[in-house]
Formats: sequence, C-alpha cells, structure tokens
Amino acid sequence: MAKIIDGKMISQQIKDELKEKVERLKKQGKAGALAVIQVGEDPASSVYVRNKKNACAYIGIESLAYELPGETTEEDLLRLIEELNGKEQVRGILVQLPLPGHICEDKVIQAISPEKDVDGFHPQSVGAMTIGEPGFLSCTPAGIIQLLKRSDVEIAGKHCVIIGRSNIVGKPMALLMLRENATVTITHSKTRNLPELCRQADILIVAMGKPQFVGAEYIKEGAVVIDVGIHRDENNKLCGDVKYAEVEPIASAITPVPGGVGPMTIAMLMNNCVQSIEEG
Ligand code: NAP
Repeated sequence: MAKIIDGKMISQQIKDELKEKVERLKKQGKAGALAVIQVGEDPASSVYVRNKKNACAYIGIESLAYELPGETTEEDLLRLIEELNGKEQVRGILVQLPLPGHICEDKVIQAISPEKDVDGFHPQSVGAMTIGEPGFLSCTPAGIIQLLKRSDVEIAGKHCVIIGRSNIVGKPMALLMLRENATVTITHSKTRNLPELCRQADILIVAMGKPQFVGAEYIKEGAVVIDVGIHRDENNKLCGDVKYAEVEPIASAITPVPGGVGPMTIAMLMNNCVQSIEEG
C-alpha cells in the first residue's frame, strides 16, 4: 500500500506558518495586498479566484478583487496592471488564466512588474529560477517540491521523469527538480516509448492534462507518483491524469486527486505574496 501524500494537510501546515509570519510582519509595520484580476465569468476560474481570496483572508493579507467583463479590451487590462504596478500597497498581482481569446496572455504576463509577479510566470522570474537567482517560483512546481520534502521523499540522486513540458508545470518542474539534484527526464506528446521511460522513474510527475491516462504499465515498483492533472470524470467527480486505483498498489507514495497537488498551488501563491510583503 502506498503512502498517501496529503496535500490538504501539508498546505494547511504551510498556511498556518504563513499566518504567523504575516502577524510578525504586521508588527514590523509590513503589510500589503494581493490584487486578483479575473476577466469574464468562466466558472472554474471563479472557483479558483474565490479560493485565492479565502486563502488571503485566512493568512491575514488583504485581497483586492477586480472582476472585469469578458469584453474588456487588452488595452484596458494592460492599463489596470500598469496602475497596480504603481501602487505601493499592492505587493502581488495575479491575472487568472485563461484569458478570453482576444487578449494576448504573454503580453499580460509581461506587463506585471517582476517584483509583484507572485504567479512566477514573468520571463524575468523564469530566468531567475533557471539560473538559481532569488525570485518568485512558479506555484504548482514549488508546491510539489514542498510535498516531496515534507513527506520525507529523498530527491537528490533520484531519477525524476516528468510527463508534460508546459510553461506553468512541466518546464519549471524540471528546473526545480534539477535544483534539488534529481536526474531529470522531460517527456511530451512526441516522446517515444513513454511507458518504458516512465518505468525508469523513481519519482514520476504527471502533468499531461489527460484524464486517467497513466496506468500500471508506467510505474516502477516503489516509485513515488505525483499527479498534477485535474479533471471531472463522467460522474462529475474530480480525477487526475493517473489511474489511481491501478497505480496506488505499485507506488511507494502517491498524491490523490483531489487533495494532492491542487491545494499546494494556492499555499505557494500565498508564500510568494508573503515573500513580496517581506521584501517590500
Ligand atoms: P498543458 O499545457 O496542456 O500541457 C500538457 C503537456 O502534456 C504538454 O507538454 C503535452 O505535450 C504533454 N502531453 C499531452 N499528451 C501527451 C501524451 N499522450 N504523451 C506525453 N505527453 C503528453 O497542461 P498543463 O497546463 O501543464 O496542465 C497539466 C494538467 O495539470 C492539467 O490537467 C491541468 O488542469 C493540471 N494543472 C493542475 C494544477 C494544480 O494546481 N493542481 C496547476 C496547473 C495545471 P506537447 O508539449 O508535446 O503538446
């Protein structure tokens, strides 16, 4: 039986640590707000935005909500970001993705001041992470590192195979695992012999966005399996990219969906906000 890596519990631990830190910072006269911008009314985005606002309230930092109509122009959004860049009190700016098709996401990400880029998506943040300079780390991969460390999974010297090379998960994940001295293999949709490669992994991180795709044939006996995917199955229940019931008996440790990687992303966003307040 695999150990269940409990993201809900670990994210709660992190938020409690941050709550204490926020109190200490307030006593030193350091405070600030997270600006959360949502364009349009995508229901999934609304849930994520609500969770982020609740997390801010929990750790004791202010959140400023900007709920803009779906027809907001790129120009108007860029103007709002510029305005928030200039506001001393705003320590973090988050634009909920995806944006409506008429707005260029890259332009929007690049408009956010790197000092307030708490999602860690700005090219300057990515560059700093690549060369090991201080900066905001991409939240989902940083959360996975915390999950592994706080579950006593040794990373150094281990072979980590990552399925997926997106800018928000796969690529930054590979960089952070490399920083932790893992030997890293990145795979993607053009990779040949994917199951065979994955069976070489001590730590397998699955971020492919394909519901319940990865089964027993991808897993080495005793591997640690991290499932980043979030989907709704035919019964409207949340599931990941991994066939949990089939993989769990082979793995030594595994993240469930829900309650694995998901809650960690928000905890690490809060961590970045507190870091920004501390440095501000
Ligand atoms: P994405 O941008 O769609 O990237 C998916 C990656 O998987 C791509 O690199 C793609 O390869 C690769 N891939 C797709 N099919 C494959 C196949 N058959 N074999 C091998 N590789 C394949 O997705 P993402 O943004 O990284 O997100 C991945 C999943 O994680 C989604 O389910 C998303 O909802 C979830 N997610 C969860 C959190 C969280 O907080 N828990 C955060 C972010 C994302 P190519 O590059 O060749 O196309």
